[in-house]
Amino acid sequence: MSNRLQAVRGMNDILPDEAESWEWLEEVLRGWLKSYGYRPIRMPIVEPTPLFKRAIGEVTDIVEKEMYSFVDSLNGEELTLRPEGTAGCVRAVIQHNVAAERPQRLYYTGQMFRHERPQKGRYRQFHQVGVEAFGFTGPDVDAEQILMGARLWQDLGLDNLRLEINSLGQPAERAAHRAALIAYFESHKDQLDEDAQRRLHTNPLRILDTKNPEMQSLVTNAPRLMDYLGTESLAHFERVQTLLRHAGIGFTVNPRLVRGLDYYNLTVFEWVTDALGAQGTVCAGGRYDGLVEQLGGKPTPACGFALGIERLLALLADADSLPQAEVPDVYLIHQGEAAGGLAIRVAESLRDTGLDVVYHCGGGSFKSQMKRADHSGAPLAVIIGEDEVAKGEVTVKAMRQKDWSEAESANNQIRVALDDLAEHIMSQWTSGQDF
Ligand code: ATP
Ligand code: MG
Repeated sequence: MSNRLQAVRGMNDILPDEAESWEWLEEVLRGWLKSYGYRPIRMPIVEPTPLFKRAIGEVTDIVEKEMYSFVDSLNGEELTLRPEGTAGCVRAVIQHNVAAERPQRLYYTGQMFRHERPQKGRYRQFHQVGVEAFGFTGPDVDAEQILMGARLWQDLGLDNLRLEINSLGQPAERAAHRAALIAYFESHKDQLDEDAQRRLHTNPLRILDTKNPEMQSLVTNAPRLMDYLGTESLAHFERVQTLLRHAGIGFTVNPRLVRGLDYYNLTVFEWVTDALGAQGTVCAGGRYDGLVEQLGGKPTPACGFALGIERLLALLADADSLPQAEVPDVYLIHQGEAAGGLAIRVAESLRDTGLDVVYHCGGGSFKSQMKRADHSGAPLAVIIGEDEVAKGEVTVKAMRQKDWSEAESANNQIRVALDDLAEHIMSQWTSGQDF
């Protein structure tokens, strides 16, 4: 056995080049959420296991086989690494009475854990942005959450996502449909795979969500929930569609869209792409009016969705829409003891003016330091040697631009008085230059 330590399978390290893209995207996402009035909430990554069993449903892929659950060896408590964020968010909202006074629009972001087979777009640790609205009966907030997606794709320059929506109706309507489904699948029992046989009486709706290609035609011809919806549910669904049309958002009604978690009712939706192979759902959610009460809170209508960050980043990478690597503004080169002492002070004073400065550490020849400066991507190097210290000056060297107006001297570099450095850099390099 190799004793090289490795990350857990399906859990990725995100190295600096990639992590910068993550931070960039997270900032875009924060701005987008804020523009719809959503406020942040942060919950623990570990929650009591019964929370997920009650919220997500016992007979779901997640609870049956995907949860990282363990017993806290110190007190025997059953705990689980969160496989999704809605359950914890609802728990926090109930525990702290967050939605007692007035409706709330909340979001969170962070890692989720599911023991799935790792493949492109499917990991054991992955990240979601979760968006939840509490206290709105809809259908306006449903429509708004759906069109938030459309705006985000537009802001990010993505045009290969399509919207699918459906209505799951209310519990009584689902019960009638469920009875019809059981009868239908029972009469075709020989065509059911093992999973479906097991779920036939526990959760037949979930059979519709099967990924088994051999069961597709059976599932296509199954009784449709839509035919069991009452007038109120239908009106809710109609209104969502009308609002989407008003907002100019195209969509398809997919009667087989059921979602993999039990807590949904009425509106459900997914934003899907063909660009990521089998892992095509980038963003998914819907209404879950019963969940707050089911977890012990006051009845509170709710609606939310989650967006998979890895899948969104993969789409952005495909579209070549990720930003360039970050570079510092200035790389500070110095040699000799006195110069090093001056340079560390100069670096701080440049940072005072808002510049990003890399102060060379580790010594070395001017030549090797210049190589580092070049590799850093900084447009400017500030150089301090013995001569500069003696004269109270510094050398400023343009590393990228060849046509610096004042840089008539050789090597695109000039000397400036130490006291004028910050002002000089700011006036030369922030006035219209690509800096
Ligand atoms: P899928 O059908 O792909 O398994 P899901 O229905 O289980 O997705 P949700 O629980 O609704 O997914 O999660 C919302 C989003 O989180 C998904 O649309 C996807 O973008 C992302 N996601 C879910 N599971 C994973 C995973 N294992 N790895 C990476 N992203 C994931
Ligand atoms: Mg899944």
